[in-house]
Amino acid sequence: MIKIQSFTNAGFGENTYILSDDSKKCIIIDPGCYQPEEEIRLSDYINEHKLKVEKVVNTHCHIDHVLGNFYCKKTFDVPVYIPVNEKEVHKAVQVYAPNYGFPKYQHQEPDFFLKNEGKLLFGNSELDILYVPGHSPGHLVFYSASQHFCINGDVLFRESIGRTDLPGGNHEQLIESIHEVMFALPEETIVYCGHGPETSIGHEKRYNPWCKVM
Ligand SMILES: [Zn+2]
Repeated sequence: MIKIQSFTNAGFGENTYILSDDSKKCIIIDPGCYQPEEEIRLSDYINEHKLKVEKVVNTHCHIDHVLGNFYCKKTFDVPVYIPVNEKEVHKAVQVYAPNYGFPKYQHQEPDFFLKNEGKLLFGNSELDILYVPGHSPGHLVFYSASQHFCINGDVLFRESIGRTDLPGGNHEQLIESIHEVMFALPEETIVYCGHGPETSIGHEKRYNPWCKVM
């Protein structure tokens, strides 16, 4: 049984997710921590629940989702995985981080690249890897069919969608990804977003002004 804990980081209101299971192993998805108190909050949760971190994973590599990769690698001594098609997006972060107001950003080279398909494994658990480009060229979503949820990064938001005006963004591609991949998931699937509250596939099919189908 996977437990999901979220943490919202101040700068961009980005949500970090820690997924853990009965084995006490966990993964950290999109660590956007930057301020010391945000880093400590993450570590405290892991220590208090006696979790062992297996890996750090990014849904995509915009700055707000990778700010804490360096801290997590250094603190927990675990491999960092980024989507294979996000290499260029990730490289660019170190160039623009100071201009975005993050002069202390420390670049963390990834240890491994996630393919655009297959499984993401940790503890006794597995998630399906879904490829949903558009918000960024290599964006991945991690889906649990058995527990009816997905960690969706910046693809869908509650009654909104990810922006596509950043380098590598493509609005038509994002809409296509939502219709072809996200809306193929069962309606009861809970969608955990990179910003803002969670939603469901059924809710977005009905009420999302960008892509509703009902
Ligand atoms: Zn993003």
